[in-house]
Amino acid sequence: MSDKGVFRFTSTIIFSILLLFIHPGSSQSRFQIIIKNATVIDGTGRPSFQSDIGIRGKKIIKIGTLEKTQGKTIIDAKGLMITPGFIDVHTHCDRGIAETPTVDNYIQQGVTTVIGGNCGGHRYPLKKLFHSLEDKSIVLNFGSLVGHNTIRRQVMGYSMDKPTPHQIQKMKALITEEMKAGALGFSTGLAYIPGTYSDTEELIQCVSAIKPFGGIYATHLRDQGKHITQSIKEAIEIGEKNNVPVQISHIKLAEDSVWGKIGMITEPVEQAREKGMEVYLDQYPYTATSSGFASSFPSWAFEGGTEKFLKRLTEKDLYQEMKQHIIQRRLSSTRGINKLQTIYIASYKKNHEFQGKNLREILLMQGKEPTVDSAAELIIQIQKNGGAQGVFFQMDEKDVEALMKLPYTMHASDGGVQTRGEGVPHPRNYGTFPRVLSYYVKQKKVLPMKEAVRKMTSLPAKAFRIENRGIIRPGMFADIVIFDPNQFKDQATFSQPHQYSQGVKYVIVNGDIAVKNGNLTGNRPGMVIFGSGKGE
Ligand SMILES: [Zn+2]
Repeated sequence: MSDKGVFRFTSTIIFSILLLFIHPGSSQSRFQIIIKNATVIDGTGRPSFQSDIGIRGKKIIKIGTLEKTQGKTIIDAKGLMITPGFIDVHTHCDRGIAETPTVDNYIQQGVTTVIGGNCGGHRYPLKKLFHSLEDKSIVLNFGSLVGHNTIRRQVMGYSMDKPTPHQIQKMKALITEEMKAGALGFSTGLAYIPGTYSDTEELIQCVSAIKPFGGIYATHLRDQGKHITQSIKEAIEIGEKNNVPVQISHIKLAEDSVWGKIGMITEPVEQAREKGMEVYLDQYPYTATSSGFASSFPSWAFEGGTEKFLKRLTEKDLYQEMKQHIIQRRLSSTRGINKLQTIYIASYKKNHEFQGKNLREILLMQGKEPTVDSAAELIIQIQKNGGAQGVFFQMDEKDVEALMKLPYTMHASDGGVQTRGEGVPHPRNYGTFPRVLSYYVKQKKVLPMKEAVRKMTSLPAKAFRIENRGIIRPGMFADIVIFDPNQFKDQATFSQPHQYSQGVKYVIVNGDIAVKNGNLTGNRPGMVIFGSGKGE
């Protein structure tokens, strides 16, 4: 302990003794908050039980029968349900959290912890981001992964080349730096540029840099359609070679040619789990995906950056090749589905009129024939004008339900920080967690409430090594949601996504009330969640 440390330690003791004298009444209000008459689902998967909960400081101190006189604030939770705050391991909140530290669209769902830096992209350098979040205070807890695309771009730009040994060393050094800043693991986005240019060997090397810090490897697979099994096997190989847990992000059967073939996912995953490997999935509870239109193009189209892409569009052969790729990969269906009606523009800076409309509607609006040919040309035009975010209905409801039931699937949003009223984002940004509990648990009875709650609390905490969260138990951080089980429901839809869920009564983060009766209190009690590499 340093001199400063000794001083701090001694003064804390003196201060505590003084408090005992000055505050003799403090023994009477032993708790800052007492939640009375709660129906608790504790997050472990066990059935609900009745209890009071006593909170002091940032922690849950007692579960049992408590006297009202012992608490400063009493919340009567009769008829209400209490669960741990939801933990969303798959978000892109690193992008907007510093600008919007109230993270309204998440806290209003009952989410108390978000993990950003998924799909290969993160805010570099993390040290700076973490500092600014601690400076300005955030409403909920935030942790981040290191993104492969971000790191590769730092070292190699948009090159399609295989990295040299020197470049590999550089990437590993940057990953180590981010892990020491407190990252929780490493993510890839292998359907995106430049991640798609990497091979398995490069990724095994990169992941070896997180191994000393005990992080997780989370991956947006190379392919979520016909080649999904092969893609999952690659992820497992990368995790197995480095002995780290593997998270398969936003799991889905994303092409109608593979709908119903859930074994393509469960077989490789369960084989690895039987061998003792930790492999998990996360999923958002919708049949539509959302991403930029760039992912509809062949990966070589963007090699070298935007300027080169624009130049390629002027070359007839390359233009045709891109067009055919888009038709085959995005616009064709083996089941005779009209894909033009399943693809919507969510946000498009160049022309707001397109927002919320599908490709067929836009083509008709432009007086064009709604063919796959003209749709491919429209997609190229949009990309040429800076790109757009799209919503793609490409999953089957039965698959969504089957994947949701798997004991190793977590619920997660794949969303980000939203500004209310801006654009037409995927409703998962506002509705993921209440939708699982109201639509899939209560209405469709796909899985029991206690199991769904486990998959949004203790399971993600375990996989991402988030300590002392995700369970309602003495000694754990007091991250708690209190909701009316008869009212709790998502409101966000594809046409009107900017809607908060109904039925949330309280959201407590680290022992402070962040939401009361559906309104933000103004408190910002969130903490940065650091991985074990922090400070090493
Ligand atoms: Zn992704």
